[in-house]
Parts: sequence; C-alpha cells; structure tokens
Amino acid sequence: MTVSIFVLHIFLALVASVFSARDKAGIIIINGKISTLDNNNRETEAVAIRSNKILLAGTNQDVLKLKNKATVVIDAKGRRVIPGLFDSHLHVIRGGRFYNSELRWDGVKTLKRALEILKEQAQRTPAGQWVRVVGGWNEYQFEEKRFPTLEEINAATGEVPVFILYLYGKAWLNKADLRKLNIDATTPNPIAGLIEKDSEGNPTGLLVAEPNAFILYSTLAKLPELTAEEKINSTLQYMTELNRLGVTAVMDAGGGFQNFPDDYGITDSLNKMGKITVRLPYYLFAQKKGLELNDYTKWAGMVDIDHHEKNGINEVDYHVQGGGENLVADAADFENFLLPRPELPATMEASLKPVLQLLVKKRWPFRIHATYNESIARDLNVIEQVNKETPLNGLVWFFDHAETISEENMERIKALGGGIAIQHRMAYQGESFIHRYGKQAALSAPPVKRMLEIGLPVGLGTDGTRVASYNPWVSLYWISTGKTVGGVQVMAKENTLDRTTALRLFTNGGYASIKENHNKGKIQPGYYADLVILDRDYFSVPYDEITAVSSLLTIVDGKIVYGKADFQSIAPGPLTVLPEWSPVKYYGGYQYK
Ligand SMILES: [Zn+2]
Repeated sequence: MTVSIFVLHIFLALVASVFSARDKAGIIIINGKISTLDNNNRETEAVAIRSNKILLAGTNQDVLKLKNKATVVIDAKGRRVIPGLFDSHLHVIRGGRFYNSELRWDGVKTLKRALEILKEQAQRTPAGQWVRVVGGWNEYQFEEKRFPTLEEINAATGEVPVFILYLYGKAWLNKADLRKLNIDATTPNPIAGLIEKDSEGNPTGLLVAEPNAFILYSTLAKLPELTAEEKINSTLQYMTELNRLGVTAVMDAGGGFQNFPDDYGITDSLNKMGKITVRLPYYLFAQKKGLELNDYTKWAGMVDIDHHEKNGINEVDYHVQGGGENLVADAADFENFLLPRPELPATMEASLKPVLQLLVKKRWPFRIHATYNESIARDLNVIEQVNKETPLNGLVWFFDHAETISEENMERIKALGGGIAIQHRMAYQGESFIHRYGKQAALSAPPVKRMLEIGLPVGLGTDGTRVASYNPWVSLYWISTGKTVGGVQVMAKENTLDRTTALRLFTNGGYASIKENHNKGKIQPGYYADLVILDRDYFSVPYDEITAVSSLLTIVDGKIVYGKADFQSIAPGPLTVLPEWSPVKYYGGYQYK
C-alpha cells in the first residue's frame, strides 16, 4: 500500500470519526415515559440531545445508537418526562431581586404553621431588616379559612418590623412598623387606598387597596433592599426554585417599581456570566403616570428590539421582547375582586393611543394587562384605530388575564392576529369573585375553552409572585379541575382542560402566543432541548396531588440546570443562600405543609 493511499485512509478515518461524533448525542435519557407533545410521536421511552437541540425521540434502541464515549446517559427509571414549562406571565426579574428576603406562605396549609414560621423568622431577622410575606397565598388555602388577626401578627413579631401582603388587596403592619414608617392618626389616605383607623382615629396596621394597589406597592418599596451581592444570589436562588418546579422559560411582565434599565442590572450581569437558567424574554412596564410615551420613546432608542434575530441568537434568551404589561397607568384595571370593577378614566384612550402607535411603528411586540371585558373593549377600540393607520402585520401582541372577556372581543383579538395569556389568579380569588359576581359569572372566568375553540393562541402562566403563587403546578391543577387553592369549584367542568391540553398551554401553547412554537415547547427533533424528568406522573396522580409535582432533573438549552435524588450528582451543586438570615435558607420557596 503506497504512502499516499495510507495517508488518504488515515485522513478519511479521521473525517469519518469527526462526522460520526458530530451526529452523536451529548445527553441521552432512556427508560422514560416521555410525553413529547408532538402529535406524530406522542410518547417515547428515550430522547437524545445534541448541543442545545433535540436530536431524536424514540425507542431506547434507536436512541442509544447515537451514543459515543462522551455521551451522558441518564436512566429515567420509568419516570414521566415532559417539555420544560414556559410561564408566559411571571414577574421573575423583580421577584429575583427580593426572593431571599421574603418568607413564603405559598402552599402553607394552616394559619397555625404560617404564624409559627413568621415568629421563627422574626427571631432570626437582624436589626434594620424586616420580616416580609409578599403575596402568593390566600386565606382559603388555610384549614382555618381565615386571615391572621393583627393581634396574632403583633404577638408573633413583637418589635421586629413586618409586612404581610395579601394579593393586591391589603397588607398588615405591626405596631413597630407604624412607628418606623411614621404612620399615625394624622397620616392621610393615598389615592384609592385606605389606612384603617380604630375608633380613636389611630392606624390599626391594616392597609387596603380601594382598589388602587399603589398604597401597597409604595409601602413595600420603603423596605430595605438586599445588597447587590445578595440580590445576585437571590436571583440565582429564585431561578433554581423555578427549575426545581420544572420551569425552563419565563416571559417577564415587568411590574410596579421594576424600573428600566436600573432594576435590570442584576439579571444583565448574570446574563453576561451565562448564569441565567431560564429562557427569559422580558417586557418593559411603564412606571410613571403621564410620562409613559416619553419612557417608551427613550427605551425604543436604547434597545434594538430585533437584535436577537439579526445576530442569530435564539429568540427567547434574555432580552427585551417588547412593551407591557402596563403600557399606560390609565389602562390598569386592578384585579381585586374584593371591590367593584374600576371604571377606566375617560383619558385612557388618549394616553394609550400614542404609546401603541410608537410601539407598532417600532415593531415592538406588546402585551396589555386587562382583567375585565369592559377594559378589553376600550383597549381594542384603540388597537383597531392604530391598526388602520399602521397595520400590525403579524406583530406579536396579546392581552394578559382577560378573566371576563366576551365572545365578541375574542373574535376582535383574532381578527387583529393577537393572543391571550391567562394565569391562575382565580385559584386565589375565585371565592371573592363568586361573592361579588355570583357563581354563574365565575363558571367561565376566563373562558379558556372558548378561546381555544375560536383558535386564539393561549399561553398559561401564574402571574407570580404577588397576586398568585409562582408554582406552575397550582396553575395546572386549577385549569384541569376548575378549583381554587381553597378547594372551591369556581369554573364549570366543561370549561376546564384535560391534562395534555393544559400542559400544552404551559409549553408549546405559550410559545404560540409569541410565534416561537416552531422550535420550542415540544420534545421533537430540531426543537430546543428544554425538558424535565418529574418526581411523579403528572398524568396519573390524583388531581389534588398535581400541586405537589416537581422536577428531579431539569434541562435548559441542552444543559442540566437542576438535579435532585438520583440525578443530584450530575447537576450543579446547591448555592449557599445569602444573607445568613434569609428565610429561603431555612424554609426554601414553595411550601408543602
Ligand atoms: Zn397584570
């Protein structure tokens, strides 16, 4: 054999090995019950991942053919595997800044336990800091089916300042707080808010949104923030908590006191370090009433909205995706069913239209917070006018919430190429809604089944962390049972979804509302590799156990970001919680007792 033929052989063998390695998998999962949500290949036992994409979903035998020495083979031991969850409405960036400072009552089963951990946390809270419980719970989740009393809160916390937020309806302060915040008999009520006073005119400690939640937001904003280092840790801990629940992507909706660009510094730096463990498109929320157009004009000058498209970065990684959920303060209808529906001011259309015109001209996707059909009807009048002048032409846009939307307005959204993102807010306010609007009105609030029948893209999410818990499994429980966290049947059975359809809205369906469902939200070759091995079978556990589902292994963009039990050894190690007194260090996040 001549030298040249020998060299050619070596060369060809080399090329062959490179090519074969190129088709091999980095990660393979075998022996799973894999729900792909791919209608042509619904359930498989194995899946292969190469770099950040799904290579194959099929039998163990076929998939193992893609194995080489470097492949990590994971035995799911018969466990359920699903596409990663995409929460299309969560305040994760703001949530991360405060997560380590907040004691969670999310999921706590008794008021007794809630007050116990409140007391314990008060005892370890250092001077200058506060104990804070910031939404995500309601009184009906407790066996006692009632709120804590101010006496109980003062008894549990004594001289340690405390702030307890109930959805966006009310908050409790103890006596120490009133002194600290200089709230006394002379303190006036803020707009559409109430500082409850006793018979002698002294503040009791109860703050009520009537219905404007500004009294709650603004008081909370007075509490001391964590240090920058602690905020970095807090945001990482919060994302890990979401990964623990199987969340691999979040569409952030901004939120009150979430200012751009200042309050994005933490996530900006984490992104630069490649440490963000969820896909994270985010929307910019207007903060200052009357200055909304100025701010969006400024932001449009600061952000290249289709930067990612131009630079081939896959679409939903950390970046500004558009405007909302609050485009103008005039359009904000507070979802507080303890009180009557607020009528939007007559100035709403005049303040919303120029902002929408700007966003559409700049091809900025937008989302609009709207609970009530009456608000949606007026918003649609403006969107239709803008569309006449500057056609939307397939621009991504959608309403958030839409609990009481009518058939007619669903059709109008469809005609404008829009979508709807719904969340389990009724799981936390169903009882209040029935109390105010009656059982009949609650049966299809929101009318999710009808939205799907009309062919609207619908995403399912949580609206965590304040007006509801961020636990996606509570949302999947609510939409498949029609029940509140208090166990009350609020939605008609006919309006609930089967578990597969529900899961679809929390994965591929959510991506449909932003036109990204062609390569995300399914376990299918060519799709991004976001998937979860569950600790129990979501499809077969009793309905009441759905809220307890969590992840054993979470993969985002082809990388293992979370692992527990058998999979702990192949996952990143836990990060020490900062600061030392953080309630997350002692209780974690979502509670199960
Ligand atoms: Zn909202």
